Amino acid sequence: MAGPKSDFAVHQVGEMRFYTIPRFAREGGVTAAFSTRLGGRSRGVFATLNLGLHVGDDPEAVLTNRALFCAAVGLDHRQLVACAQVHGHEVAVVGAADRGRGAFDPALAVSGVDGLATNIPGVPLITFFGDCVPLFLFDPVRRAIALVHAGWRGTLSRIGACALAVLQEHYGTSPAAVLAAVGPAIGPCCYAVGPDVAAAFAREFPGGDVVRGSPDGVWRVDLWTANWRVLREAGVGAANIAVAGRCTACALDEFFSHRASGGKTGRMAAIMMLDE
Ligand SMILES: [Zn+2]
Repeated sequence: MAGPKSDFAVHQVGEMRFYTIPRFAREGGVTAAFSTRLGGRSRGVFATLNLGLHVGDDPEAVLTNRALFCAAVGLDHRQLVACAQVHGHEVAVVGAADRGRGAFDPALAVSGVDGLATNIPGVPLITFFGDCVPLFLFDPVRRAIALVHAGWRGTLSRIGACALAVLQEHYGTSPAAVLAAVGPAIGPCCYAVGPDVAAAFAREFPGGDVVRGSPDGVWRVDLWTANWRVLREAGVGAANIAVAGRCTACALDEFFSHRASGGKTGRMAAIMMLDE
């Protein structure tokens, strides 16, 4: 696992702040970013850059926020392709005809999946987060990408490996060629779980680096390391996995956190697109 140093870079554009992945940028040909809560127009618990249409915020503010964020990142928000995010482990392949699905109406998002993959330039993928783990996968050899929402269930069922398998099957991707990134998400400092979930993670990820007990009797799960291991064990090189190492629940001034805010809050977004 990477140390405390972040493999992500912070960008500040006026009030807006978002993260990018320097090693993706060095390779070139791909746009990838993760938003914060800073730089939007939403108010109250959704202040300010809420990008989720499904959480009870004013839809006009959310669409304005999406337009602002996408403009800062350098793509067209009207083309965004979203998925339903059902806390499963399926990943769908999308193409040019899917452009705009879920961009304005969540009911039109790609149903039944938590990840999207494509090899078509100019198709911007988007997934939404309020503590769960964003996984970015980029194959610079076959020119293909996948973007994944890994909740605790998706992490346990190894959705990162499922995404790699989809890239392999559809585009001939070799996992050894893949550049990957684990974005900001609730960290091992804050992700307390019950004994059943702790036991399930200890079974799936033995070795003591993912599940930790504590003197107060609370189990904590390290979703960053769990997803890092999923990618490593599926063949991605250690040097090719960037880790943000930023806990969403520790930094409510910067991120929305479902856990730390008691439920009603906004959503950040991960965005990924092969450049045209
Ligand atoms: Zn934390």
